[in-house]
Amino acid sequence: MKKLLFVSILALAAGLFAQAARPKVVAHRGYWKTAGSAQNSLRSLIKADSIGADMAEFDVWIASDDVLMVNHDPVVDGYMIPDTPSTVLRANVKLANGEPIRTAEEYLDVAKDLNIGLVFEIKWHSNTEREALCVKKAIEMINERGLADRTVYITFSPTAHAELGKYGVPHYFLSGKSPKELVEMGSTGPDFHYDVFYKNTDFIPEFKRLGMPINVWTVSTPEITQYFIDQDVDFITTDTPELCIKLLRETPSSKDVRVMDFNLEGAESFDAAAAVIRAEHPDFVTLQGVKQSPELNRLAEVSEMYIYFDANDKNGVAVMSRTTPLEVKSLTLPNQFRNTPCHAIVCTYDLGGAIKFNVASASMSDENDVTRNHQAEYITRYLRDAGIPAVLGTGLNDAPNSDAWKTMRGRFGELSTDDVTFPAPVPDRKIDYLLSYPADKVVKRQSYVRPSAASFHMPTVADITVKY
Ligand code: MG
Repeated sequence: MKKLLFVSILALAAGLFAQAARPKVVAHRGYWKTAGSAQNSLRSLIKADSIGADMAEFDVWIASDDVLMVNHDPVVDGYMIPDTPSTVLRANVKLANGEPIRTAEEYLDVAKDLNIGLVFEIKWHSNTEREALCVKKAIEMINERGLADRTVYITFSPTAHAELGKYGVPHYFLSGKSPKELVEMGSTGPDFHYDVFYKNTDFIPEFKRLGMPINVWTVSTPEITQYFIDQDVDFITTDTPELCIKLLRETPSSKDVRVMDFNLEGAESFDAAAAVIRAEHPDFVTLQGVKQSPELNRLAEVSEMYIYFDANDKNGVAVMSRTTPLEVKSLTLPNQFRNTPCHAIVCTYDLGGAIKFNVASASMSDENDVTRNHQAEYITRYLRDAGIPAVLGTGLNDAPNSDAWKTMRGRFGELSTDDVTFPAPVPDRKIDYLLSYPADKVVKRQSYVRPSAASFHMPTVADITVKY
């Protein structure tokens, strides 16, 4: 038997989650771990594009004649790039695959005819004036070729970072800094070594809350790559882009679940309700009209689910689930007329493959329709601001043409049917709802009202697909 978990919780600040597409695969120095390729070569750029990498990263120095050169290290074949004219470098330096060292112009002329995005690294020069010129010329040559909308810039150099900021281009900083420091630097976001994120587990949620896209380097093993896919970062910079693409493809992007909303008001015992829940076998149940009691423990036990409970009055709410949530939040709903308090509980789940899902249960005032509308506004805004797919089970205690219902419907999709739910066993009204947000991420496959005399309300069941 699963351990039952009763939760008495504090209201926490709402987290703002950045809504991202799946991580972009960035081929580090191009795709060079393949036949005929070499780091920062044209071949590595073309190869990265051909395997479907989203972006290629490359490193750029300014040579002594103001020409930008693509290479990782400042010294190549005995030549110090910033102190050497490009003509000398071009004539004498060969990459590991036999290609000559490339100018940034040559590199970008090839890139513009490909589909791949670019991660343009400005190297850290000892001369800040030369570095500023490198930044200026880099941005000019990207703009001239119409590549601005598929290019981001990265650098370890604080001065180059500040210089990039002056041009208003997307610019990421490569050395580990706290989210606060990066905000103060005016950075677009972090591009940190993976170890920084392993050691500071609060960084990823905080950068997401700040809406700063997250880039991580250099992630090349299956374990670490999967970790950052599941962390839902924005860019994964890797020496093994084919592995990253394969893992992304294998990581689920949607999950089918069954959700039930059940108001237990008027239930004489929970045995009958437990029988209904067991028969329907939902993954999540939103409950209203519950008080904390040994009976509620038993309901969860018989249903073989975990239960998370808030409030111990007639408007008590709970969420039951087959897995444990990442986070549980308790909300007291607005109540300016000081009627009986109303509550909501929001449980956040990881459905696998970085699919997060909020399951919320709310109890609305049955005493005042102005309060009820404020409560509807509050809970729907809260779930929208969370920025992840959500379902909300609630007894609206109001007619379908009410303000509260219009508020709900204006913001959320409906999963429940038009069938009446109250009063059981011979209902004539619909006051129980299962709602969802957003419509393109929480898709209804089917829903129905389950006949039941276990309480005054009949439960609603919905089979849904939650998408990444
Ligand atoms: Mg680099």
